[in-house]
Amino acid sequence: MTAKTASVVLRLGLSAQLSAAAGPFRIVIESGGSGGTLRPVLLEGTRLRGLLGDKLRRLQQLQCIRHYSRYSANRIMTGSDTFRFSDYDCIGFDLDNTLLRYQIGNMIELEYRVMSKFLVEERGYSEKYLLQPPDLDFLQKGLIIDFQRGNILKLGPDGTIHQATHGTKKMAEAEIMAYYGDEKKWEVTTEYCENMLVAWNGPLSEKIRTVLDYFDICSTLLFGRIIDTLDEEAHERIGHYNVWPDILDALIHMYSRDHFDQGVGGYFQALKQNPEKYLLRSSPKLVSWLRELKKSRTTFLVTGSHVDFANFTASYALGPDWRELFDVVVGFAKKPGFFTGAKPFVRLEGAVETEPLEASQLERNQIYSQGNWRDLSLLLERVSRKDHPRFLYVGDNLIQDVYTPAKFTKADTVAIAEEMAAEGMKDHPHHLHPDAPYLQSQFWGSYFVTGSSPQQQEEPSLWADLIKRYAKICVPSMDEVARYPMDHSYNSFTESESCADGYYPAEPMKLVN
Ligand SMILES: [Mg+2]
Repeated sequence: MTAKTASVVLRLGLSAQLSAAAGPFRIVIESGGSGGTLRPVLLEGTRLRGLLGDKLRRLQQLQCIRHYSRYSANRIMTGSDTFRFSDYDCIGFDLDNTLLRYQIGNMIELEYRVMSKFLVEERGYSEKYLLQPPDLDFLQKGLIIDFQRGNILKLGPDGTIHQATHGTKKMAEAEIMAYYGDEKKWEVTTEYCENMLVAWNGPLSEKIRTVLDYFDICSTLLFGRIIDTLDEEAHERIGHYNVWPDILDALIHMYSRDHFDQGVGGYFQALKQNPEKYLLRSSPKLVSWLRELKKSRTTFLVTGSHVDFANFTASYALGPDWRELFDVVVGFAKKPGFFTGAKPFVRLEGAVETEPLEASQLERNQIYSQGNWRDLSLLLERVSRKDHPRFLYVGDNLIQDVYTPAKFTKADTVAIAEEMAAEGMKDHPHHLHPDAPYLQSQFWGSYFVTGSSPQQQEEPSLWADLIKRYAKICVPSMDEVARYPMDHSYNSFTESESCADGYYPAEPMKLVN
């Protein structure tokens, strides 16, 4: 490399072309659009050093308002990449279904019971289908509800509707085309696939809802059964429905944070009375792994649960000293908005929220409520005593815990997908999940592919694609990583279509070529 010509590869994920305001210099940044694909950044010129100062400051400013690439320089240069927990200074975790595992089968049965009872007794829906035992084969994470049409959809990465039901009745391909056009695409879900946060609290949240974890997974079955009933009563397909607000009310009734203390709603009482029926104790190996991690890294917990419920579940799973495992604990964090918004942190006295706090008022070894990533990262920077710490976040909710932090912050992510264990993995066909019948679906096919044919090789589902693009690695549970020391080196996901790297202990069976 000479002073006359130079090229520098930078880790920036934005599309921009800056003209040579500083003379005969050229900066080209190429990005593959919204997909986050990054091309090298080329700087050419004779006064490279001076240019770097000015332009990089500008680029960093731009970077603050655009998304970040998750690809490291190593990935760009060599096409392969590795991942180690020990490469990160600040490591954070979601609680539910991440550090704390549930007995998913019992939980789903409870949720279905509580919600169906609410819909029959409080909203007057017919009990004919709603009060039947849940059809477990209909349940799958990641399905999308089309409120107005009464349909439930399974999408591919580009938004194509590969499978759909009206109510609980499966549609033939021609019927999907009749609803959504020959391309089997709907502008709402296509926009959603381009920016998933638009359906969180934007205008699209009035049209669609994705069931993303085991807390709302019953919503599709309840919705489908109500649509079946309404059509049957009308002796025709009604075509336009307004059922979702009632199901949302059932979810709110079940999970309202005040209901834990007040003992109403049915859900929290059941967990309080029989925690052993619904919660699993985390393995001693995982607890020691977290203890070991905290010795040399800054650790934090960010959970959507209010602090009283989080204390109840975390004490059960991780032990009464669970708070010692983390430098900072955040409860009632409104993910995914936590990672993109500016809601202030709120001080807690016991479980009562008192006053909003500035970033500078936050301290180590505290529990806070609400808040936002920007303020938390400033605190983590202080606690870790690093100027530019590397952040990692681990969670099971692919939009809240993986997509949003990976796309909108500097954090890398690890995804948890229990479906890997339930469906079986390459060379691990018997790695069975105790609640596999609740996680497997013949009806919809594998969670990781779009189709439902047991024989055919199908294309990856929207969710398998998201995992590959936004997570470093994906595991069925935290126990999988607790088996190894912190500096264990994993091959992480790469852009290569055929590469199976990134899933541990092995690729999901349906993704094996
Ligand atoms: Mg979770």
